[in-house]
Amino acid sequence: MQTELIRIDRTRMDREVMERAGALLRGGSLVAFPTETVYGLGANALDEEAAKKIYAAKGRPSDNPLIVHIAELEALEGIAAQIPKEAWMLAEAFWPGPLTMIFHKKDRVPWGTTGGLATVAVRMPSDEIAGELIRQGGGYIAAPSANVSGRPSPTTAEHVYEDMKGRIPLILDGGPVPIGLESTIVDLTEDCPVILRPGYITLSMIQEVIRETKVDRGLIQEDSFIRPKAPGMKYRHYAPRAQLTIVEGEAGPVIAYINEQARGTGKVGIICTEETKDCYPLGDVKCIGSRQDERSIASHLFQVLREFDGDDVDRIYSESFDTPGLGQAIMNRLLKAAGHHKIHV
Ligand code: AMP
Ligand code: MG
Repeated sequence: MQTELIRIDRTRMDREVMERAGALLRGGSLVAFPTETVYGLGANALDEEAAKKIYAAKGRPSDNPLIVHIAELEALEGIAAQIPKEAWMLAEAFWPGPLTMIFHKKDRVPWGTTGGLATVAVRMPSDEIAGELIRQGGGYIAAPSANVSGRPSPTTAEHVYEDMKGRIPLILDGGPVPIGLESTIVDLTEDCPVILRPGYITLSMIQEVIRETKVDRGLIQEDSFIRPKAPGMKYRHYAPRAQLTIVEGEAGPVIAYINEQARGTGKVGIICTEETKDCYPLGDVKCIGSRQDERSIASHLFQVLREFDGDDVDRIYSESFDTPGLGQAIMNRLLKAAGHHKIHV
């Protein structure tokens, strides 16, 4: 299959291209597109056969459900049942935006879209290209991240092309995404709302809108016997080919430890920040952003992990980024990429 990559200008979207992309989705094909979080791999969420193509293209385990993307608030009641008042409050505060909510599903949502679950995850993205594509594609677009399962999520159209070339007909290129981490997921099917995946919208931002919110125990505890409620959170994910180790501790000992590793044999990759990048004389040093601007760290994380594959490094060491707001979301992804391999110095 030929994969077309078409650049889209957000301020003057090419109508012919957007209509063609919508027609592909309505016809049961896959189209990749930008959102404010990461690039998504879209299919008509109400068409079970189309949804199955997503699993095949990504090599995604079939029990890992898809998030359904909508473009209008009115569309929510078309697929979700028993919507609690907290959901409307969160939608008012954060939609369109990087928040996914989980509801009981209506019958028209196929089991193939929800990985066999009786619940459905829904998000309204704020990216204009995503919004227009969802409208053109019929209003309900299932769209996981557009990477091969297990690889870092794509934050540019080129990343999508690397992973999906020959597997899908069309990629809409909207340039690099602004956030770079997947959406926060909140489950609204229990008595108390529960965060199943940390993201750009933090626990305290949610608590400002609806008072009571918890965080899934499977996320906080490093106990493999406690299963995270979001099926996707149990898989190894985002992993570069080389083993990644996270080095925690005060800056001085962390830098000393990583430099000691870089002096050893093999090609060593290093993930650091603006503040520390000049402290590493050896190794393949990548600056992920500044500790003064945690958004810069979030938005470069997946790109940096992908670059190490191209550089053919043997081992990678990363500083830890427990920043105040996005730290939980950043470290959740970094720990998964490292297969929870971390040391404290
Ligand atoms: P992705 O779209 O690749 O970022 O992955 C979607 C994430 O949402 C995965 O971690 C899924 O397990 C999770 N998810 C989707 N639908 C549900 C649901 N109904 N219940 C719990 N988690 C869900
Ligand atoms: Mg994903």
